[in-house]
Amino acid sequence: MTKITPEIVSDSLEKSTLKLIATGQLVDLFARSISYLRVSLTDQCNLRCIYCTPKEIDEKMAFGELLSYEELLRVIGLAVELGIRKVRLTGGEPLVRRDVISFIQRLAAIPGLDDIRLTTNGVMLKKYAADLFAAGIRKLNISLDTLQRERFRRITGSVLFDQVWEGIVLAQDMGFSPVKLNMVVLRGINDDELVDFARLSQTHNLQIRFIEFMPIGKATIWEKEKYISSAEIKERIGQLGELEPVQTARMDGPARIYRFKQAEKSQGTIGFISPISHKFCDQCNRLRLTSEGKLRSCLLSDKETDLKMILRGGGSDDAVKAALARTVLDKPESHTLRETDGLNCHGQMSRIGG
Ligand code: SAM
Repeated sequence: MTKITPEIVSDSLEKSTLKLIATGQLVDLFARSISYLRVSLTDQCNLRCIYCTPKEIDEKMAFGELLSYEELLRVIGLAVELGIRKVRLTGGEPLVRRDVISFIQRLAAIPGLDDIRLTTNGVMLKKYAADLFAAGIRKLNISLDTLQRERFRRITGSVLFDQVWEGIVLAQDMGFSPVKLNMVVLRGINDDELVDFARLSQTHNLQIRFIEFMPIGKATIWEKEKYISSAEIKERIGQLGELEPVQTARMDGPARIYRFKQAEKSQGTIGFISPISHKFCDQCNRLRLTSEGKLRSCLLSDKETDLKMILRGGGSDDAVKAALARTVLDKPESHTLRETDGLNCHGQMSRIGG
């Protein structure tokens, strides 16, 4: 059993923290077992999506501010000792960080880490798909908010739509599975493409996921008029046919999954991610590590633990584990954002990782 000194854990949470460390399991105060860590590798992104990383916040974190790969491997290794089994690499854009492939190879060698996933905007997928596959990654989430080249340029500031689409096709051909396409639905910006996206689930082995726009970010274009609920999305794509629910395990993730009933040949599925209209906090099994080393127990709460300070202050492995355990014990029962509220979560998605 790990020996923890009083200096390491001295607040009122001491007993609970010690218990989590001793049992090697991160269970929060609401009996949720935390087994999933999302890691933002960088705040940098090669796109400038109008709702996420617009040009106005082009301030760049100094490289030394990011956790180094060594620091990340140490933290993730310790998190695995505490029961983390699944890691998702995100960003910013994770594939823009230098030497990302050799980092993933080292990550994959951590004993007990069974599942490494990646969320990407797809711009560099063609370049890295083979390396990612060889490194053991099979599950990809690719963000794509439009199927129209010119609109892609307007939303992302990039002319690389074709490159992204070719990356998606390549990933499927190579055998990545599942490949999920994430579309953030924005009224008046891309909602006229709902049916086009839904149809892709009938022609491709893709999971098309419609994500509710969330009031989060420093310089987002959030307005409640732009928000569309999953219920409305579901109704609008209903013109393609009846949707039937697909059974998933309780901890499979936040999406509610469906497929078109009569489309027998339909290969793919439809997912609804409804953080606002259909909270999934009771099933949340996640912890987040931001690009500059802050632990966050809830995407939509700005409360963070400064892990980098512990790492760079010479903190022991036990101190790092104590910080992980304390953050879990501090996880709120649920977030409190509603679409009717103004923007009140200022955490920047590019550093948190979505
Ligand atoms: N660059 C990678 C990518 O594009 O997938 C990973 C980082 S990105 C911040 C992760 C996800 O967050 C993307 O799917 C993006 O669309 C989503 N996102 C950003 N801001 C959002 C918001 N306000 N509401 C809902 N989703 C958002």
